[in-house]
Amino acid sequence: MAVHAKMHIKKGDTVFINAGKEKGKTGKVLKIDPEKKTVVVEKVNFIKRHSRPTAKAPQGGIIEKEGPLNITNVSVFCSKCNVAVRIRKKLLDDGKRVRACVKCGEILDR
Ligand SMILES: [Zn+2]
Repeated sequence: MAVHAKMHIKKGDTVFINAGKEKGKTGKVLKIDPEKKTVVVEKVNFIKRHSRPTAKAPQGGIIEKEGPLNITNVSVFCSKCNVAVRIRKKLLDDGKRVRACVKCGEILDR
């Protein structure tokens, strides 16, 4: 289904989570792991982790951190359309290839 989508997602993109327990949320991509095919999305899929004791917190503690999501569960989100959209490649006059929203043509690369 979303086989092609994975190549379109880049760090810094706003994505829409379209499957799994975080379905319906949007957030900014913080990290991509092409090997594991996962993405970490800001403020989505928090998981609890035990942190090691530090000078500040000698007992250690529990920190909440964003966990990875399967890259096939996220789609690029167009802030102009306000929905998850498919994207297309667009060739600019200067020869640069950018990604644009299929619906409104908004360029998603900065
Ligand atoms: Zn759009």
